[in-house]
Amino acid sequence: MMADPTTSPGSAPPAGLCDSCVHQQLVHTTRGSTFSLCRRSRDDPAYPRYPRLPVLACPGYEQREREQPR
Ligand code: SF4
Repeated sequence: MMADPTTSPGSAPPAGLCDSCVHQQLVHTTRGSTFSLCRRSRDDPAYPRYPRLPVLACPGYEQREREQPR
Protein backbone atom coordinates (compact mmCIF):
# COMPACT_ATOMS: atom_id res chain seq x y z
CA MET A 1 0.00 0.00 0.00
CA MET A 2 1.30 3.46 -0.89
CA ALA A 3 1.55 6.24 1.66
CA ASP A 4 -0.60 9.28 1.10
CA PRO A 5 1.83 12.15 0.36
CA THR A 6 -0.76 14.76 1.39
CA THR A 7 -0.76 13.67 5.00
CA SER A 8 1.99 13.33 7.53
CA PRO A 9 1.19 11.83 10.91
CA GLY A 10 1.76 14.13 13.85
CA SER A 11 1.65 17.35 11.88
CA ALA A 12 -1.08 19.94 11.67
CA PRO A 13 -3.70 19.52 8.96
CA PRO A 14 -3.07 21.61 5.85
CA ALA A 15 -4.23 25.16 6.48
CA GLY A 16 -4.17 26.28 2.86
CA LEU A 17 -2.96 29.85 2.41
CA CYS A 18 -2.33 30.27 6.14
CA ASP A 19 0.54 27.78 5.94
CA SER A 20 2.61 30.28 3.97
CA CYS A 21 1.22 33.52 5.45
CA VAL A 22 3.21 35.85 7.71
CA HIS A 23 0.16 36.24 9.96
CA GLN A 24 -0.16 32.56 10.84
CA GLN A 25 0.81 31.39 14.31
CA LEU A 26 0.71 27.70 15.09
CA VAL A 27 -0.66 26.98 18.55
CA HIS A 28 0.24 23.64 20.08
CA THR A 29 -1.91 22.24 22.86
CA THR A 30 -0.88 19.93 25.65
CA ARG A 31 -3.14 17.29 24.11
CA GLY A 32 -1.00 17.17 21.01
CA SER A 33 -3.29 19.16 18.73
CA THR A 34 -2.11 22.04 16.61
CA PHE A 35 -4.26 25.00 15.63
CA SER A 36 -3.65 27.69 13.04
CA LEU A 37 -4.19 31.10 14.62
CA CYS A 38 -4.54 34.23 12.50
CA ARG A 39 -2.66 37.13 14.12
CA ARG A 40 -4.62 39.62 12.03
CA SER A 41 -7.57 38.80 14.28
CA ARG A 42 -5.90 40.77 17.09
CA ASP A 43 -6.26 44.07 15.27
CA ASP A 44 -9.04 43.38 12.81
CA PRO A 45 -12.31 41.70 13.86
CA ALA A 46 -12.96 40.80 10.22
CA TYR A 47 -10.49 37.97 10.63
CA PRO A 48 -11.44 34.99 12.80
CA ARG A 49 -8.91 33.98 15.43
CA TYR A 50 -9.04 30.42 14.18
CA PRO A 51 -10.16 30.48 10.53
CA ARG A 52 -11.94 27.51 9.05
CA LEU A 53 -9.35 25.44 7.26
CA PRO A 54 -8.17 25.13 4.66
CA VAL A 55 -8.22 28.84 3.80
CA LEU A 56 -8.34 29.02 -0.01
CA ALA A 57 -8.76 32.77 -0.43
CA CYS A 58 -7.99 35.60 1.97
CA PRO A 59 -7.68 39.36 1.38
CA GLY A 60 -5.18 39.64 4.20
CA TYR A 61 -2.79 37.02 2.92
CA GLU A 62 0.87 38.04 2.80
CA GLN A 63 3.40 35.47 1.73
CA ARG A 64 5.97 34.59 4.33
CA GLU A 65 9.56 34.88 3.22
CA ARG A 66 11.62 31.76 3.43
CA GLU A 67 13.90 31.62 6.41
CA GLN A 68 17.44 32.60 5.56
CA PRO A 69 20.21 30.18 6.54
CA ARG A 70 22.45 31.55 9.25
S1 SF4 B 1 -4.37 36.65 7.04
FE1 SF4 B 1 -5.61 35.12 6.00
S2 SF4 B 1 -4.14 33.69 5.10
FE2 SF4 B 1 -3.06 34.89 6.65
S3 SF4 B 1 -3.17 33.67 8.56
FE3 SF4 B 1 -4.90 35.10 8.56
S4 SF4 B 1 -6.60 33.93 7.65
FE4 SF4 B 1 -4.69 32.87 7.13
